[in-house]
Amino acid sequence: MKKNVKRRDFIKKAGLAGAAAAAVSSFPAPAIAADRVDIAMVATWPRDFPGLGTGAQRFAERLSTLSDGRFNVEYFAAGERVGAFDSFDEVASGNAQMYHAADYYWKGKHPAWAYFTAVPFGFSYSEINAWIRFAGGQELWDELADGYGLKNFMCGNTGVQMGGWFNKEINSASDFKGLKMRMPGLGGDVIAKLGASPVSLPGGQIYENLVSGAIDATEWVGPWNDAFMKFYEAAKYYYYPGMHEPASMLAAGCNKSWLTSLSASDQAMIEAAATCENDIMMSEYNANNGSSLKKLIDEQGVVLKEFNDDVYDAFSEASAEVYAEVVEHSDLARRTHESFVNARAEIGAWMKLSDGAYLKQRNRALGV
Ligand code: CA
Repeated sequence: MKKNVKRRDFIKKAGLAGAAAAAVSSFPAPAIAADRVDIAMVATWPRDFPGLGTGAQRFAERLSTLSDGRFNVEYFAAGERVGAFDSFDEVASGNAQMYHAADYYWKGKHPAWAYFTAVPFGFSYSEINAWIRFAGGQELWDELADGYGLKNFMCGNTGVQMGGWFNKEINSASDFKGLKMRMPGLGGDVIAKLGASPVSLPGGQIYENLVSGAIDATEWVGPWNDAFMKFYEAAKYYYYPGMHEPASMLAAGCNKSWLTSLSASDQAMIEAAATCENDIMMSEYNANNGSSLKKLIDEQGVVLKEFNDDVYDAFSEASAEVYAEVVEHSDLARRTHESFVNARAEIGAWMKLSDGAYLKQRNRALGV
């Protein structure tokens, strides 16, 4: 895997989104052709983008390694085969076998997709894993995906995301009025309730829009990824915590008729490789975010700010309005939301007095 990625390079490549860029095979042809499984994997991330892109590429590579090269994986970053947001249709139609993406990008097709990445006031990493695996989440995700000919697995997580980059202080909800901000998913609908104009841009197009003033503010991920993007060149105020993406889960989306045509062993290998990446990516984010945040503050003069309670209360009220609309969409949207709410209450009650209470006391004792 390439190190020292040049940011300008990937932005240039990301600019090819939608163009018929030449496909580049990332992995060697298998030594044995028998039982070869050809997998074209498209992704919503720029090539070699830290965390999201490199995690997806690591997942693709793991499929090849676990199968001893029998899985012939061709990985296509955003724009190399189709544009980032065309990944869904490419796999649903059977043109490609798999995508790696954040499923909330598809909320325009059905709002329930948002729940399988992150939703406002949603789950933490531990909580969403518990919901998906043991509290009904995967069954609802399967029902939703099945309607599009897909079967999806958890395949990465960023953890709690930052609230975003602003070129002014955000002291009250009214500061969102008229703000043009990049924020996908239901979080975008929440700030729209506060008078902002949310836009959904793929990662490779955010920087140029922020620098040109086409957008006033943006969220992306967290210190590690955001430092790489150099958003501090156009916006100095860096707010936390993000209400919109408490732990964004990434997905390996598979064309279902292709997946189910494989042997049970091959299907299990794909799921295992995805589960592995779900864990590794989270570890990588947690290992890198702290040091990156310190550098942003010390070396780039970034001003770190916490959203105050008034702003958060406004987020909460606006979220309730958004959810009231989501459940009206369809029976599946309502059932997904209700499952989410019930799991958040039950799992969240335990997290409050386990992780939450412990971290509070530990940090108090350490004075941090
Ligand atoms: Ca984000």
